[in-house]
Amino acid sequence: MAKQQTLVCSFCGRKREEVKILIAGQDGHICENCVEHAREIVEQEVTSKTEQERKKDSKPVSNRKPMEIKSFLDEYIIGQDEAKKILAVAVYNHYKRVHQKVESEVEIEKSNIILVGETGTGKTLLARTIAKMLNVPFAIVDATVFTEAGYVGEDVESMLTRLLQACNYDVDAAERGIVYIDEIDKIARKSDNPSITRDVSGEGVQQGLLKLLEGSEVLVPPQGGRKHPDQKLIKINTQNILFICGGAFDGIDRIIAKRINTNAIGFNVNKDLMEYQMEHLLQFVNSVDLKQFGLIPELLGRLPVVTYLNPLDAESLRAILTIPKNSLIRQFVKLFDMEGIKLEFENEVFDFMVEKALEFKLGARGLRSICEAILTDAMFELPSQEIKEFKVTLEYAHKKFTVAKSGFLRVA
Ligand code: ADP
Repeated sequence: MAKQQTLVCSFCGRKREEVKILIAGQDGHICENCVEHAREIVEQEVTSKTEQERKKDSKPVSNRKPMEIKSFLDEYIIGQDEAKKILAVAVYNHYKRVHQKVESEVEIEKSNIILVGETGTGKTLLARTIAKMLNVPFAIVDATVFTEAGYVGEDVESMLTRLLQACNYDVDAAERGIVYIDEIDKIARKSDNPSITRDVSGEGVQQGLLKLLEGSEVLVPPQGGRKHPDQKLIKINTQNILFICGGAFDGIDRIIAKRINTNAIGFNVNKDLMEYQMEHLLQFVNSVDLKQFGLIPELLGRLPVVTYLNPLDAESLRAILTIPKNSLIRQFVKLFDMEGIKLEFENEVFDFMVEKALEFKLGARGLRSICEAILTDAMFELPSQEIKEFKVTLEYAHKKFTVAKSGFLRVA
């Protein structure tokens, strides 16, 4: 009887009249204060657990063998087999090295990578996909924004700021991340002769990169930009950060041709083979050519893996549209699907898109704008209509593209 009269919170012991609400359970009660307290505890526990899991998950998967890495890349990237193979081995060795026992006598050196290939051939996509597979932080930076310390521009260290930002300033995670440096060819030395004027955005930046690439402790400005004296800097060890550099290296084919021709003198070379090779010169690219192009030997020494990407022909562009896991067409189909609309294309539409991408020399990057140009009206109008299916015919694609064409002419 007495039990019934004095209802208390089974957690804090407060009486019924001391609290606003007392919720009954099977064998007890809980007051609003204890509910709130319990919620906080649960929240803390869950967050710290997910944080631990996230850290555990973001450990690079070094046990993926190079062939598995390449298969993963195949799901997202069309062609470029040679680059995928070389990248797979380099990444595999890099993370093997990261997990190497410190006491070992044989110290494996870092395998930073240079990708040479026309713009829009998939260099960034390769680097991004590798980072996705490994679940490590990834940052893309443009080499042209950096200048030598003391001049207008950004310090090279600020590229690590982007990496930190990509993982919410988790230094541990950043120290295992991947940085993709785009347009590395734009910081080539302006000429082979040491010039009278300082080359602050070319050779100066290459010099600045050396320390970062080889692996050392670097002080990074938390907000990027230039370092200044009263700023609190974050210390990052770049030893296990993988740097992948990419560039179009316009004109490098002439350098390669010259080198190969010189080497071929005196040999009985098959003419057809020679012609084929002349058309696919990039496959022979090596550090010697890159040095000739204007990268300094010290930098090349820290970028030991050099590979190339092929220009994309009609067949590859056609495949890029539909085959990769998150291909453009799949993305648009998904977008329409979210509106409850089944989107379909006539096969000829794909050929038309490829033809236009080649005509305007826009490469794979242009495929998206072409898709957008063809589908924008549909994306604007259909959500307000009661339509469940939409088929893009060649005629429709022609019509929509012709209207949008003036924009493309300006781009091309
Ligand atoms: P790059 O870095 O070489 O200039 P990107 O990797 O940024 O080129 O490619 C631009 C876009 O083109 C990518 O986002 C992707 O949609 C598409 N793309 C380019 N090459 C390929 C490829 N080989 N396979 C699949 N998609 C590609």
